[in-house]
Amino acid sequence: MTIDTKKLLEIDRNTVFHASTHLKQYAHGEIGGRIITGAEGIRIKDSEGVELVDAFAGLYCVNIGYGRTEMAEAIYEQAKKLAYYHTYVGHTNEALIELSERIIKMAPAGMSKVYYGMSGSDANETQLKLVWYYNNARGLPQKKKVISRDRGYHGSSIASGSMTGLPLFHAHFDLPLERIKHTIAPVYYRREDDNMSELEFSRYCAAKLEEMILAEGPDTVAAMIGEPVLGTGGIVPPPEGYWAEIRKVLDKYDILLIADEVVCGFGRLGSEFGSIYYDMKPDLITVAKGLTSAYQPLSGVIVGEKVWTVLEQGTDQWGAIGHGYTYSGHPIGAASALCNLDIIARENLVGNARDTGAYLQQRMQETFANHPLVGDSRGVGLLHALEFSSNKTKREHFDPNLKVGPQISAACLEQGLIARAMPHGDILGFAPPLVVTRNEVDDIVERTLRAVNKVTDKLISSGDWNAR
Ligand code: PLP
Repeated sequence: MTIDTKKLLEIDRNTVFHASTHLKQYAHGEIGGRIITGAEGIRIKDSEGVELVDAFAGLYCVNIGYGRTEMAEAIYEQAKKLAYYHTYVGHTNEALIELSERIIKMAPAGMSKVYYGMSGSDANETQLKLVWYYNNARGLPQKKKVISRDRGYHGSSIASGSMTGLPLFHAHFDLPLERIKHTIAPVYYRREDDNMSELEFSRYCAAKLEEMILAEGPDTVAAMIGEPVLGTGGIVPPPEGYWAEIRKVLDKYDILLIADEVVCGFGRLGSEFGSIYYDMKPDLITVAKGLTSAYQPLSGVIVGEKVWTVLEQGTDQWGAIGHGYTYSGHPIGAASALCNLDIIARENLVGNARDTGAYLQQRMQETFANHPLVGDSRGVGLLHALEFSSNKTKREHFDPNLKVGPQISAACLEQGLIARAMPHGDILGFAPPLVVTRNEVDDIVERTLRAVNKVTDKLISSGDWNAR
């Protein structure tokens, strides 16, 4: 059956409220729409027959790649057997039991229980509630502030959007909430002192965090939340020693650490968890995306023993915990997570993220490190970013009105490649499915180079930029 793209898009423009979209421009047809009709491996296809290499795995989530019939079957089988029952007051299901045992075994040491949600945002919402409950149960009702980081991304609901450190997610929504504070982002590329080593910069970031804790009052600060690798804020691996320095400060003031592993969890860095890769020793972990490779919406809050003991004590004082979602522990979500984890293990996708990830880093570096438009080429595992700069040595920003990042992302699309213009700065992000091969990496790098060269030529010929 052929699809009438034009007609369907017209209905879409009239009826669908799209995420992260200029609403008026889309409704008035000033910006395009695309109907995705199918996908296989690392490629998606639209209703006009255009095929695109998806070097961002959807929104860094389709880790096992598209079109896995095994996943469809697991979902179908579970739906036939038990499509739904709630998990309130000890009700459970087999898929959920098996999944939880498996997650706890894979997770960093000291993790105890998993609470389930449907998205990274709602999981981080749960995190905040648990942290507040934890300190109420400890008799520390003042200890409630949560420190996040500039350029962190933790979702777009009220609490998770507050923890997010990107102005776009705060402005005009009256966010962030008062109890959420933001410390500096550990972006070595943006250090002010050129002579600082990475380790010195990490110590500087830790000192800034401590300064904030002291200014707020240590007895008012409950937790810090951070992604092992800053994601949506620009794909920035932490500088050397960062998490060890941060952990020292948090321990000094009895502050919990929440590792937001929504992107890093389940293999993206070439390790099961980012917090294992960086030895973060978190007290709480958020997972989503890679848990089901987005075949079903499922997220989790992994609660460490230390927090769990106190939560139990809380219920001893106050009765059942007042937190629960209708879909928490959904059997179809759990079944799809189990099948996804089977595929990841059987195909050694964590190993592939490590090996092919190292190849991606090497290919990007050798292709772009000396490119006049590229200020920084950085990454870890199967995460990479190219940051564009108008002056390589001075690390200067382009005029934001030029929209260099979006221009390059659009030029990539013309080359049949999806690479994401990150919402902060002129940064192009790559996070291909964990099944990506070396040949596909070569293809991604070559298409990107053609796109970057095209925009470079355009910027020079239009007089918008003098390559220096
Ligand atoms: N945390 C991180 C690190 C993320 O990258 C995201 C989404 O990109 C979220 C949380 C929010 O997840 P969701 O979009 O599923 O609500």
